[in-house]
Amino acid sequence: METKTDPARVTAASTTTTTTITKPRRVLPYSTQNLTHDYTIGKKLGQGQFGTTYLCTQKSTGLNYACKTIPKRKLLCQEDYDDVWREIQIMHHLSEHQHVVRIHDTYEDKSCVHIVMELCEGGELFDRIVKKGNYSEREAAKLMKTIVGVVECCHSLGVFHRDLKPENFLFLSVDEDAALKATDFGLSVFYKPDEVFSDVVGSPYYVAPEVLRKHYGPEADVWSAGVILYILLSGVPPFWAETEIGIFRQILEGKIDFESEPWPNISESAKDLIRKMLDQNPKRRLTAHEVLCHPWIVDDKVAPDKPLDSAVLSRLKHFSAMNKLKKMALRVIAERLNEEEIGGLKELFKMIDTDNSGTITFDELKDGLKRVGSQLMESEIKDLMDAADIDNSGTIDYGEFLAATLHLNNFNTPAKSLV
Ligand code: ADP
Ligand code: MG
Repeated sequence: METKTDPARVTAASTTTTTTITKPRRVLPYSTQNLTHDYTIGKKLGQGQFGTTYLCTQKSTGLNYACKTIPKRKLLCQEDYDDVWREIQIMHHLSEHQHVVRIHDTYEDKSCVHIVMELCEGGELFDRIVKKGNYSEREAAKLMKTIVGVVECCHSLGVFHRDLKPENFLFLSVDEDAALKATDFGLSVFYKPDEVFSDVVGSPYYVAPEVLRKHYGPEADVWSAGVILYILLSGVPPFWAETEIGIFRQILEGKIDFESEPWPNISESAKDLIRKMLDQNPKRRLTAHEVLCHPWIVDDKVAPDKPLDSAVLSRLKHFSAMNKLKKMALRVIAERLNEEEIGGLKELFKMIDTDNSGTITFDELKDGLKRVGSQLMESEIKDLMDAADIDNSGTIDYGEFLAATLHLNNFNTPAKSLV
């Protein structure tokens, strides 16, 4: 597993005794005004691996935007600097597409880089589906058309996304007919025809087998979209295990379960499309364009409009909540504690569960996170609690949480590795 941390570099810098003055490294090849000259910064909207996203208001127009702020202290080597610059270039390159978040401005100061972009107020893909309370194959087909449409656009412009997952798709507004937007191009790269990639990046559930085999190209995006489709229709990922290694094994084996619920009630056409998107052989796998021509996507009469089993939605809710909790736990660990201190996620939960009940209450979670130095907002913790508390008991059963969580034994810094 690749991380982009370079400890050697850090050590070398701190032990230098000569007076060489190194020019501060920059991301942007030009200098800019200060962000606060043009924008007022508002509340925190979200937190990713590298950046924190804030609401901001342009002073001259009063319009609201989202600003992703990346602290330069998190960029440890030249490659990290280049990655951020590439993310900005790719956003510009794709920004005409109606389902890609539009980049508005970029700023850089001594400590941070800021990417000002269109504000997506409608929340994440899965949250929205869960909130809606019911949905059908036909609606899933519409979402898939958007997601694969973004992939087709990327590929036609020579961009390989490399990190397609539901968390990276946000709705523009809370309106019923709001556009779905791809937001995160942090792992995307430009590619030439027939270029072969070998660095293992992505997110475990969504990563294609050829990526794990370190020999891949943009076909891997279609695989990831196929995984999203499988989850959209069943509420669970097609390749699942308790450990990261276990998931990878499942992916490499590539067996897709169409026997369990709800698959017997799902249309043959949907299953046909999933099989063709999750083809082990990237050469044989459908291209993004071919997916968009599949009957399940194009023909309004093929994907049934009848509501999917409600169990699909509750599983989807569970899956999404667990992922958020996991992300939060990973972040707390990564930000504040090293592996020995924490000794794995279980210990974190034991620590939070002060009365050793095996379940965590809202107050325990809040205090525990505070104790380890987390800066999560109370509302964020509340949302997570609500989402993860499947039986509405007011507590999270962390045995269940752990079972749904990847093991952290091989977990390093959450750089652009498989986390
Ligand atoms: P990272 O590359 O660090 O994962 P993301 O670009 O995914 O960062 O952003 C992190 C979080 O910030 C997202 O999960 C989302 O909650 C929030 N976010 C990102 N972009 C926007 C946006 N345009 N509008 C609203 N929230 C956003
Ligand atoms: Mg992200």
